[in-house]
Amino acid sequence: QRSCGHATPEKIAAMAGADAPAAGEVQVVDYDAYRRFGGYQLAASLVSGERDPESVIAALESAGLRGLGGAGFPAGRKWRIVRDQPAPRLMAVNIDEGEPGTFKDRHYLERDPHRFLEGMLVAAHVVGVQAIYIYLRDEYPECRRLLQAELARLQADPPFALPAIHLRRGAGAYICGEESAMIESIEGKRGEPRLRPPYIAQVGLFGRPTLEHNFETLYWVRQLVEQGGDWFASHGRHGRQGLRSFSVSGRVREPGVKLAPAGITLRELIDEHCGGMAEGHELYAYLPGGASGGILPARLADVPLDFDTLQPHGCFIGSAAVIVLSQHDRARDAALSMMRFFEHESCGQCTPCRVGTAKAAVLMEAPRWDQPTLDDLGQVMADASICGLGQAAPNPIRCIQTYFPHEVT
Ligand code: SF4
Repeated sequence: QRSCGHATPEKIAAMAGADAPAAGEVQVVDYDAYRRFGGYQLAASLVSGERDPESVIAALESAGLRGLGGAGFPAGRKWRIVRDQPAPRLMAVNIDEGEPGTFKDRHYLERDPHRFLEGMLVAAHVVGVQAIYIYLRDEYPECRRLLQAELARLQADPPFALPAIHLRRGAGAYICGEESAMIESIEGKRGEPRLRPPYIAQVGLFGRPTLEHNFETLYWVRQLVEQGGDWFASHGRHGRQGLRSFSVSGRVREPGVKLAPAGITLRELIDEHCGGMAEGHELYAYLPGGASGGILPARLADVPLDFDTLQPHGCFIGSAAVIVLSQHDRARDAALSMMRFFEHESCGQCTPCRVGTAKAAVLMEAPRWDQPTLDDLGQVMADASICGLGQAAPNPIRCIQTYFPHEVT
């Protein structure tokens, strides 16, 4: 029986390590159990008018909460922008989780779905949206069953009047995790990114202003409001603020979702949260942000991991999917694997991405790389692609050229 209690407050504290949120938080799957632990009271207090919606936005802003799907746009500002658009407004929730190495949304969804649903309803109320569309990765069938069941229970015995909530199946393409392609997919079309402007906050789902959020961003809303934005911001290291859920995989002793302070370094993350490197493996390289975030060498294992901190090194954190490589791996193999992935997942609507990823993958198979041609291709892809897939596709090439030239010359 799916009932309660995957994690006690102690377990949650342990999961977050020394800088843990020492919160009285309990994770439960079951609707009744969630309500017993005070669930939906925050949303109810907003709907009843007891709580001022402005106080919720203020909490997000003082927390410094940013979009945790990868883009990192400040959540409070997004809510204000969409709230100021003409009604009817809609909401789209992105649980497509297609970035290689990312599994944090599934982790929380399986353990605490109502915390996410409450955050979603709080956002919907504060922004004034008429209907919500949840776009769930179809390769997560258990999550779909769970969410369907728990949504049905919420809707059968709602604590307050709910907006319309639609659960949509993801179309199985990486690109459908890109916000405008997801919108197209929800509308029943091919998942192809739109040219912007107009931004989807203004012209989104079915042509209406749309609040788009990643699962995890909404998952944090209740705790931020209840414990205060300053509580969230009080975590962090090396000058950064907040908490991040790292999906760690690769050559570490204990991979998994690690709740850790924003700005933690890779070395600290491995030592403090992952039990060190796996037996017989030494750190050689790492991917800080899934397939699109680039590859860094072991000598840069002390760079704080957060939004904005990796750009000087040609990388970015994205959805915080950290993949650790050892002396038994080659960075060029990882880069080639990523390029083949981009080639496969390119939606094909712009030539630099469709053709460029395919050509780059062939060139990257050569023992010695044709650097001028790869540079040229990378420049065209970065400059002339419509969306982030094509724009970020040259990252692995550049990282290999910068940090691992010995592997390709
Ligand atoms: Fe499609 Fe690639 Fe163009 Fe993005 S950059 S719109 S994935 S072809």
